[in-house]
Amino acid sequence: MNRLILAALTTATLLSASALADERTPLDAGAIAKAAVAIDDARLAGRDGDRGNWLTYNGQWTEQRFSPLDQVNANNVSDLRLVWSFSTESSRGLEATPVVVDGVMYTTAPWSVVFAVDARTGKEIWRYDPKVDKQWGQKACCDVVNRGVAVYKGKIYVGALDARLIALDAATGKVVWEVKTSEHGKPYTITGAPRIAAGKVLIGNGGGEYGVRGYLSAYDSENGKLIWRTYTVPGERAKPQETKALAHALTSWNGDQWLKIGGGGTAWDAIVYDAELEAIYFGTGNGVAWNRDIRSPGGGDNLYLSSIIALDAATGEQKWYYQTTPGDNWDFDSASHLILADLKIRGKERKVLMQAPKNGFFYVLDRKTGELLSATQFADTVTWAKKIDLKTGRPVEVEGQRYEKGMAIVAPSAFGAHNWQPMSFSPKTGLVYIPAQEVPGAYERDPNFKIEEGFFNTGLRLELFKGLNRTIVRGHLLAWDPVKQKEAWRVPYQLAWNGGTLASAGNLVFQGTSDGRFVAYSADGGKKLWEIVSGTGIIAGPMSYEVDGVQYVSVSAGWGGTFALAGGNASTAGGTEPNGKVLTFALASKVGPPPPQDPELAESERLYHHYCVVCHGAGAISGTSVPDLRHSNEDVQKIFGQIVKDGRPGTGMAGFGKWIGDAEIGKIQNYVRARTREDVVLIR
Ligand code: CA
Repeated sequence: MNRLILAALTTATLLSASALADERTPLDAGAIAKAAVAIDDARLAGRDGDRGNWLTYNGQWTEQRFSPLDQVNANNVSDLRLVWSFSTESSRGLEATPVVVDGVMYTTAPWSVVFAVDARTGKEIWRYDPKVDKQWGQKACCDVVNRGVAVYKGKIYVGALDARLIALDAATGKVVWEVKTSEHGKPYTITGAPRIAAGKVLIGNGGGEYGVRGYLSAYDSENGKLIWRTYTVPGERAKPQETKALAHALTSWNGDQWLKIGGGGTAWDAIVYDAELEAIYFGTGNGVAWNRDIRSPGGGDNLYLSSIIALDAATGEQKWYYQTTPGDNWDFDSASHLILADLKIRGKERKVLMQAPKNGFFYVLDRKTGELLSATQFADTVTWAKKIDLKTGRPVEVEGQRYEKGMAIVAPSAFGAHNWQPMSFSPKTGLVYIPAQEVPGAYERDPNFKIEEGFFNTGLRLELFKGLNRTIVRGHLLAWDPVKQKEAWRVPYQLAWNGGTLASAGNLVFQGTSDGRFVAYSADGGKKLWEIVSGTGIIAGPMSYEVDGVQYVSVSAGWGGTFALAGGNASTAGGTEPNGKVLTFALASKVGPPPPQDPELAESERLYHHYCVVCHGAGAISGTSVPDLRHSNEDVQKIFGQIVKDGRPGTGMAGFGKWIGDAEIGKIQNYVRARTREDVVLIR
């Protein structure tokens, strides 16, 4: 049998191996503290050749998401097996990429809950719940997700959904300090991972549509004191602007609608600290409202919306900016992943910064100067602009696409040709691996628009979203040559909203998919080499690390995020398991084959499948027409035996009493309970 099919078929067994995972000596608090304390500026800058750890959200300071490890490689990846799975006990989207420091993994779950687990076994060391008021979920446009932590000198930093920045003791998970990063009670949120810049913790926020003014803040990592805050859009016209850059920006705005509500331009995802040039680069989001005719009547670029901004790390002063979508009218944030690299462009070595924002073009900038080196369409369809003019650095727009004269079908749409899902860059292949997608949208001005403060303000007829469906939406893994600005290869997917990517020195690219698979491809050619079924759609980016000579590959699996919530028919979930997990894999040749199944459970599994599978589903995973037994509540569990014996008249559930007795029924119930523990820990 084909190894891929075999792997898929045995997934249920593999994924339930967690309870039987290898037991090792637990890490003590002293060792954990020592490891985390050792993470200083030199280690974050990669100056000690730290191959085995994954020290920041995107892996290393260049944010390339490239693992130099090659124990797992294109020749042996088919030998990869699940080593442990850790339930985050959550039912919303998992967007986090774990950070790993010397054998300890730190990761986050929805509602900004932080976990520290033993990276070898998945055993929990501590957890911290910031207890975000669930009402705050209404202010989070794009699910109550969190993308992860930063680690520095013994502390773990997390941004909570309610806009608190919190420092935790790495050894214990206890709060060291916490600060409110929001202003004036405004509806700011944080979903992104903090970054470290020479003793400062950097954090932005989300909340553009809800009426906030975007900014990036730098806090003292030791005590949480605010060192600087750099706004992305101008403040009140009548008052002096905080900086020269903002005074310049003010000339690109008209009217005062945006002043009433905040302007937007939030820094909700990409932040990079360039340890070489001591600069910070970050991306900004859309304005409020999305529709520029409302936001800034008469036009204007509306700086610095949908832009990439470079700051001096010490002062927060602007060094340069580049606006990818001047006068954004479509929610084409430029907030997604920024990758730093050294590339030879037109014969010259350049320190570059790369971004594939929502608007469908791939940008390469000189990060010293902000000079646009190239910009080419990477999305299959881009309707709003013909190209980016390299002389002016501006898009050549297509008439009518600003829906100024009525409804326009625009590609890409607000979901983006590439959204927050991190891409990766392999210095070995020279390719960028983009979780790309095609999601067009219908835009039309809402004739009845009025600002609703604290609510989602777009200025659009959002009911046009209902036109989204699976026949017009698709995704693909796109391998992109950033020097040639050309596609190298692609893997098409039927659905959009697939996971972030990881590239490795083993000539591999890993990606999870919205239909619930985790896949490894060859990095040079895109050949599928291994896959496993995870049971839920994967949107997060994978990562890799090494402990005690074993390379692990890990990914958070949990369907959610903005497209999953808002995409209607087009966003059908890729799985039946409602809760999130962190799945961690290694080569069987390094960690041994999966442990043999408990013989008693094997007999229970056999009995369940013999008597129940045709209606209640393989692995006790049912469709929608018959109850999913994994979700049976305690009331049902109490009368489980009676139901199986006598049936439930009127429901189609027959009695099985003439074939099986109490002992067998008890075993079947044990199997169902085991499946509940594995897949639905929340519902006990
Ligand atoms: Ca946005």
